[in-house]
Amino acid sequence: MDMQSQTIPSWPDLYQPPIDRALPPLSLKTAAGMQEITAGQRFSMYICGITPYDATHLGHAATYIAFDLINRYQRVAGAQVCFVENITDIDEPLLERAARDDQDWRDLAASQIDLFRSDMTALHIFPPADFVPATGVMELIDAAISQMDRNGFVYRVGDDLYFDISSFLVDLPIPINEALEIFAERGGDPSRTGKRHPLDPVLWWANKNEEPGWESSHGLGRPGWHIECSVIALRYILGENFLKSGKRPFSIDLQGGGSDLIFPHHFMSGAQAKAMLGQPFTQHYVHAGMVGLDGEKMSKSKGNLVFVSKLLQEGVDPVAIKYALLKDHYQSDRMWSDATLEQAIAAVALIRTALSREWVASTDAVSSSIITSISNNLDTPMALQALEEWARVNVAPGVDEAQRGAGDLSRLLDSLLGLAF
Ligand code: ZN
Repeated sequence: MDMQSQTIPSWPDLYQPPIDRALPPLSLKTAAGMQEITAGQRFSMYICGITPYDATHLGHAATYIAFDLINRYQRVAGAQVCFVENITDIDEPLLERAARDDQDWRDLAASQIDLFRSDMTALHIFPPADFVPATGVMELIDAAISQMDRNGFVYRVGDDLYFDISSFLVDLPIPINEALEIFAERGGDPSRTGKRHPLDPVLWWANKNEEPGWESSHGLGRPGWHIECSVIALRYILGENFLKSGKRPFSIDLQGGGSDLIFPHHFMSGAQAKAMLGQPFTQHYVHAGMVGLDGEKMSKSKGNLVFVSKLLQEGVDPVAIKYALLKDHYQSDRMWSDATLEQAIAAVALIRTALSREWVASTDAVSSSIITSISNNLDTPMALQALEEWARVNVAPGVDEAQRGAGDLSRLLDSLLGLAF
């Protein structure tokens, strides 16, 4: 019998206007340095989604906007993009928040996923082809753990199952001392007695107290965080037979998320996938920087998260929110403040005025400059600087009215940047 898995509805699809210019290949700064990310006929991209208890703060928004640029670029370059995104709808932080607020964890997750969908729609981000909650792949997680067990990577501590990371530690992306510290901060349990290595991540928690649990061949329980993503990525990009033996070509072209996922999440989920398949599963890892507020790190513990939905409720134009986030480079850690948004609102107004003029200065140079900048590791600050310069020329008196209307430029901005002015 085929194993059950279930996706949930994502959000409405978008129209991407065609552009009549050739695109150079996309270069991205990946975990392995600058790489040309060639889009063949098919380009597969797995993006780590939210844990639905705190959606969608500006850090999330910046990350999903960045990966949307890659999606857009590869689509315009002619690739059929296979884009999969997960929802970590069963994990400690979600259960803790639900318990704190005396709410059913399913209701909390559903309400936050709804908010996430409306925020992604407002920000003009392409939906994934498969939007997959961890709770939708429990049978596959069960089978994947069994496969890793057969391959010798699984052991028991009490009733819980752990993954033996030792043979993957040579690929650790950061020094071991740092790794131990971060692992403890991000849901790991380095000091638990009985573990073979402090960094071994949990695969399956045996059911405790009132916690939600699923029946499995490893007992009633729930999965650890990293195994959720390994399984969802493999199932929805390689196909439902991903656990069948046999050598496969690389099938996941790019895996992405915020830089806080480099370790432990991407390291652990990559190691687990390798333990299942006997070969690496992701060709390129790309990470986005973090967004802070007024000089401080934005975090749930500080209580200073800025939410997209809150800004939208206050009547802020979503184009301005997106513009403000694109003004900084996606891989830089940057700060948000009221001034960031005010400057973006002013720039958007200027650009709208220029784009709506009946006669405008030639759009040829600015269009080329925008394409070149995006192809160079998504250099949106450079692209938007060229756009603002073009707009300023157009609102100045005595502009050289070289062409009728800037429809071509509007389409380019919508198509490649998802900015529909
Ligand atoms: Zn993930």
